[in-house]
Amino acid sequence: MGSPGKPARFVRMTVEGAVRFGRIDGDRVALYAGDPIAGAAADGKSVPFDARLLGVPCVPSKILGVGTNYRAHALEMKKPLPDEPLLFFKPPTALLPALAPIVRPRGYQRTDYEGELGVVIGRRARRVRESEALDYVFGYTIVNDVTVRDLQKKDGQFTRAKGFDTFCPVGPWIVSGGGLDAGDLRLVTRLNGVVKQDSRTSDLIFSIAKVIEVASRVMTLEPGDLISTGTPSGVGPIAPGDTVEIEIEQIGTLKNPVVEEAE
Ligand code: MG
Repeated sequence: MGSPGKPARFVRMTVEGAVRFGRIDGDRVALYAGDPIAGAAADGKSVPFDARLLGVPCVPSKILGVGTNYRAHALEMKKPLPDEPLLFFKPPTALLPALAPIVRPRGYQRTDYEGELGVVIGRRARRVRESEALDYVFGYTIVNDVTVRDLQKKDGQFTRAKGFDTFCPVGPWIVSGGGLDAGDLRLVTRLNGVVKQDSRTSDLIFSIAKVIEVASRVMTLEPGDLISTGTPSGVGPIAPGDTVEIEIEQIGTLKNPVVEEAE
């Protein structure tokens, strides 16, 4: 999907108190009449780009994560390599825009960042073949799959560990079209400026297309749905006062501070 030429960057941004869809055009945002994923067009108006006003760039009905999808991460977690993608949900209530604070919950030992490539679905996908799966992609973004590590181990599944409010930072935008190939992009995560993860999406065990094939055999993927494709090695804990930056080449940088949950 998407158009030829340069990739476009789609955002959601607060304009006069309402969250609007738009496309970055130089240092301005061309506003859209509705969701460009649903085919809405620019309405002719524009406003200055302001990163502090960004919203989450898509409105997913569901967010799918993929567990253990990089070999080196499987080793560091002491987990066997999976023979199929391990899929899990994060709730849409966990979504958080760029620059907004991740709230670390109290009472747990370790909450981790996980830098990941995000895939945004562009049209309804049901039982899609791997060879056609990328035709169903609108574009790519960056996700931090924040996780309470001790809860993940204790519960044996991921609902609580990965489901807290603010545990799904996404953004700052969706890069769409322009022939962007997300199959071999460098992903770097920095904690307070120090590199913690440095890998390439070519190290994914299951490709983006394979994950879409497997997921769409189970459930219908709707336009705007988000798939977070898994994290490379180098995961580690976050603490109040920290800043997490996840940079993926040709996409951008997703930055969020960390605060402590209020008593
Ligand atoms: Mg993850």
